[in-house]
Amino acid sequence: MARYYVLLGPPGAGKGTQAKIVTDALKLSHISSGDIFRENLSKQTELGKLAQSYMNRGELVPDDLTISMIRDRLQKPDCINGAFLDGFPRTPAQAEALDKMLKENGNEVLAVPLITVPVDVILERMTGRLSCKDGGHVYHIKYNPPKVVGVCDIDGSELYQREDDKKETVQKRIEVYDRQTTPLIEYYQKQGKLVEVDGSQAITDVTACLLKALSGK
Ligand code: ADP
Ligand code: AMP
Repeated sequence: MARYYVLLGPPGAGKGTQAKIVTDALKLSHISSGDIFRENLSKQTELGKLAQSYMNRGELVPDDLTISMIRDRLQKPDCINGAFLDGFPRTPAQAEALDKMLKENGNEVLAVPLITVPVDVILERMTGRLSCKDGGHVYHIKYNPPKVVGVCDIDGSELYQREDDKKETVQKRIEVYDRQTTPLIEYYQKQGKLVEVDGSQAITDVTACLLKALSGK
């Protein structure tokens, strides 16, 4: 059976940072819905143009667009052994659609780590985040700075502040998470799949907890 995991947590909790490390360790594909939307946005594809206004306002892109985008992505050959989903699902309708999609091939989500972080930490992490233009690598001005200012250590591309990481939008994204995504905690708890991980620790300590939480699942 293929291995599918869902990483839950508020925006800025450290999902992308951890997903990149953990997927390397577990040899799984990392699927970040936010990265896919940003790639479409920078290429100005139809999907990118449709998603842009929602993203810039800190709102969720409509379920139908998001679900069909993820369905296409999961059908790519690199997902044959499973995937680590980061940022998807974000609504109960998306979670139900994912369960249905996986079931069609006799698969299911095996475990759902929830990265918890207090709100003041989230605010500091998001407003200090630097993202790379080409590869979606993530830095923080204080907690995880690049070796050379403004340049990605990994692919050399330019680092920028995401439009939706400006202070005004960050608050809105936290509200959207509380209202639309937190019902998923109960959804996965009922399935016995939720595992909480304390995201306020240093990056390497969070990784160790995550790997422990996933071992044998
Ligand atoms: P998410 O994908 O959940 O939105 P990111 O992985 O992009 O979150 O992390 C948000 C910001 O916090 C980034 O600037 C990242 O470098 C920083 N960060 C992530 N994990 C930690 C941590 N454990 N301690 C300090 N800073 C962190
Ligand atoms: P992220 O990179 O996960 O912080 O996502 C950035 C933005 O992309 C979000 O604020 C939403 O506008 C959009 N987005 C990402 N994933 C989803 C999703 N699963 N459902 C709806 N919108 C999403």
